[in-house]
Amino acid sequence: MSSNKHSIVIVGYGGMGSYHAQLIGENDHVEVAGTFDLLEDRRNASAKAGYKAYASYEEVLADPAVEVVLIATPNDVHKDIAVRALKAGKHVICEKPVAMSSEELKEMMAAADKAGRVLMVHQNRRWDEDFRVIKQMYESETVGSLFQIESRVHGANGIPGDWRHVKAQGGGMLLDWGVHLLDQLLFMIDSKVVSVSSNLSYILGNDVDDGFEAILLFENGIKAIVEVGTTNFITLPRWYVKGIEGSAIIEDWSLNGRIVTRNHASERREPTPIRAGVGLTKTMAPPSEGSTITAALPPAAELPDSFYNNFAAVIEGKAEPIVKNSEVLRVQNLIEAIFAAAENNAVIKDFDTYEDLKPVQSIGEAVK
Ligand code: NAD
Repeated sequence: MSSNKHSIVIVGYGGMGSYHAQLIGENDHVEVAGTFDLLEDRRNASAKAGYKAYASYEEVLADPAVEVVLIATPNDVHKDIAVRALKAGKHVICEKPVAMSSEELKEMMAAADKAGRVLMVHQNRRWDEDFRVIKQMYESETVGSLFQIESRVHGANGIPGDWRHVKAQGGGMLLDWGVHLLDQLLFMIDSKVVSVSSNLSYILGNDVDDGFEAILLFENGIKAIVEVGTTNFITLPRWYVKGIEGSAIIEDWSLNGRIVTRNHASERREPTPIRAGVGLTKTMAPPSEGSTITAALPPAAELPDSFYNNFAAVIEGKAEPIVKNSEVLRVQNLIEAIFAAAENNAVIKDFDTYEDLKPVQSIGEAVK
């Protein structure tokens, strides 16, 4: 490469692969050295977009100019592509979900460790602004200490594409969207998950789940409700959280939302009963005038760097990864617990590897 940017080959030049190409093109530390896709029309699309289209994966691995392999293929082939790249001395960025199972991820981490190369998973939704606003509220107790967090994504388009319908390729919504929502929660909440219950939905008649609900109980008392739906013609808010001093809502990715907190300056008054349906209620009456304060959402918490900047600094030995493999493994274990809870209609305990996060990071992320 003529520049001093880190050269990346994107393996799997589909929807996300081409989006990565665009994002990498906007970054100062990394650049696209080419792409490889099994399909000829995707290789042609890559060439048309101005990227070198490698004819085989062997050719990518044999090219000494390639420093990094970025994996944006369906999920079932992530592990093999990653392990081969690491063995060939390349660093790896892998799309989420990193693998089909925690066992596969452990194999990938061991390969990274053995090769002394970086393996970093693209858990990009840690950077989502809506999530970072919640993170800010969690950390600064904007509505008091949080005790309930509801995180939802709802669509009405069913399961998109082809391989996302196929179990053997790692399809289904728990692996697709669930991994993001669960990663966000475990990244934010510094506490062990003590139990999980869940159910998966198969409304559309696929082999794989078209949505799920999971309830996570954390050791610090937080309850999280996580829901993904693809049959929701009316959507519920992206976030709804309750703290001991108030509640907050974030409707959507455009950050429509508000917080409502207790007004300590107001005298405590009994609410006036209202007619509700055919009955009368004081309990469910709106708070009396002046007893609450409605405010705008706080600004989002900042992360130390962007994904690609951080990745570049990690392979240069200058920074710790923001997405650590030990954290990704923890999420993978949680996903497995959610599948097991749904399958057995049971509450699953003793699966969280929270303690393993501290104080040393796990194998595969040390920069040699
Ligand atoms: P896609 O079907 O649009 O693209 C996948 C591409 O990989 C296809 O062009 C296919 O031909 C190619 N491919 C399949 N097997 C291959 C192999 N062995 N070698 C080389 N190429 C191969 O899928 P997508 O929606 O782009 O998803 C790809 C990955 O990206 C998945 O892991 C998915 O979960 C992830 N993803 C992440 C995000 C995110 O926001 N982080 C968003 C979408 C997708």
